[in-house]
Amino acid sequence: MSIQTVNPNTNKTVKSFEEMTEKAVDAKVEKSQIAFTHWKETSYQQRADLLHKVARLMRIKKLELAKTITLEMGKLLAQAEGEIDLSADIFDYYADHAEAFLGSKILNPEHGSAIIKNSPIGVLLGVMPWNFPYYQVARFVAPNIMVGNTILLKHASIVPQCAAAIEALFEEAKAPEGLYTNLFIPGKRASALVADKRIKGVSLTGSEAAGASIAMEAGKHLKKVVLELGGNDVFIILEDANMEKTVEWAVVGRMNNNGQCCVASKRFIAVEAIADEFIKKFKAKLSKMKVGDPMDPATELGPLSSEAAAVHLEDQVKRSVNQGAKVLLGGKRLNRDGAFMEPTILSDLKPGIAAYHEELFGPVASFYVVKDEQAAIDLANDSDFGLGASIFTEDVERGKKIADQIDTGMVFINHPTWTQADLPFGGTKRSGFGRELSELGIKEFVNKKLIRISGLNDPF
Ligand code: NAP
Repeated sequence: MSIQTVNPNTNKTVKSFEEMTEKAVDAKVEKSQIAFTHWKETSYQQRADLLHKVARLMRIKKLELAKTITLEMGKLLAQAEGEIDLSADIFDYYADHAEAFLGSKILNPEHGSAIIKNSPIGVLLGVMPWNFPYYQVARFVAPNIMVGNTILLKHASIVPQCAAAIEALFEEAKAPEGLYTNLFIPGKRASALVADKRIKGVSLTGSEAAGASIAMEAGKHLKKVVLELGGNDVFIILEDANMEKTVEWAVVGRMNNNGQCCVASKRFIAVEAIADEFIKKFKAKLSKMKVGDPMDPATELGPLSSEAAAVHLEDQVKRSVNQGAKVLLGGKRLNRDGAFMEPTILSDLKPGIAAYHEELFGPVASFYVVKDEQAAIDLANDSDFGLGASIFTEDVERGKKIADQIDTGMVFINHPTWTQADLPFGGTKRSGFGRELSELGIKEFVNKKLIRISGLNDPF
């Protein structure tokens, strides 16, 4: 796949970038390794000063950076600006809190004394997707720079201008050379790079196939790996849900980022008692969405990230219909240029139908009616994925009991699954392993070193 900006609003190629040669990549890995030998000796204050500078620059350049997101992957401009704010928040948050998360822990062993000290492990490789080009990078990079690690970042090939802009932010903030390095290489070369002895850990956010490829290399070369992969999140509507608010959140949960969030609400499961009311209102709202140019502030749904993504989604819908699914709304590409898909709702989904099992990465909702709460839980857990889930009920205690029975990394009550700087993010099952953000995320690529002090006469 070539590295280029193709505007998904028009499918026209805007700019192409050269793939880096093996020699150029080798030189960059070496610089990152050298940078590590210095960066690991810096104080938390020095690291925090740099991250605050990056955050400040992001806020100053918000509109310019947001426009690049919209140009390259079609996110609505207002949402792109929101992503820059969120990314800057993450840089500021880890600048302010990392030292507390990483502080030494005193243990009380039976004999002598002991401490756990958190130290950096070295050069890390991040492989990131296009769907949140700044946020995905921020949540991996900010905590790890505070740890004292250095970063090689291979971004998705369809967002090269975002990738270059992030590196430029570090340069402008006067980061030491080699601390943060953008690599213009395709996916396969990222997997091959894991073998490099100078790279000590790798984190991938993306598809199962890419995750498996990276994990295989990491396994072969005994490297720590974190994987944030796909999801098929449920949005459960119980009979005691506040229907007006629930329907509003259902639209946001499915359509935010033009339907392309790993934690988008993808499977809407309503209990019988309120299913008709929910689907009527949900369908009415989706059918009125204004689809079009993501730069236009009046637009409510933009294109998918690429023509290939739109072709794949349409194929998933067609296969599902051939296998017995019903189309309650939409179901087709838009009759215009660009990677557009109509807001779509599918129903009558059963095991064996593509949409029952596969992640639908776009504006296509799957609708299910179940008898009761237990049937909703069983259906929620009948998935290979385990990323997020949301439950809508006026009874929070009931919601918490259901949350305990759902097999995902995150469960949100009365809100679609979402993210913020101070909450952990990650999944289970085929959605990956490890966490990003919070105290859990910052300790993924850390040597939790035990230092034991013994009296010379302590027993063996
Ligand atoms: P993707 O094709 O897997 O791409 C993600 C990244 O992996 C890109 O940088 C890509 O590079 C690279 N890549 C592709 N093949 C590779 C390989 N064999 N070895 C190493 N790297 C490889 O995924 P996507 O289509 O961009 O993103 C959508 C998927 O990501 C969805 O499944 C979504 O749910 C998931 N996602 C998960 C999270 C989470 O936190 N759990 C967040 C966002 C997205 P190229 O662009 O050069 O191919």
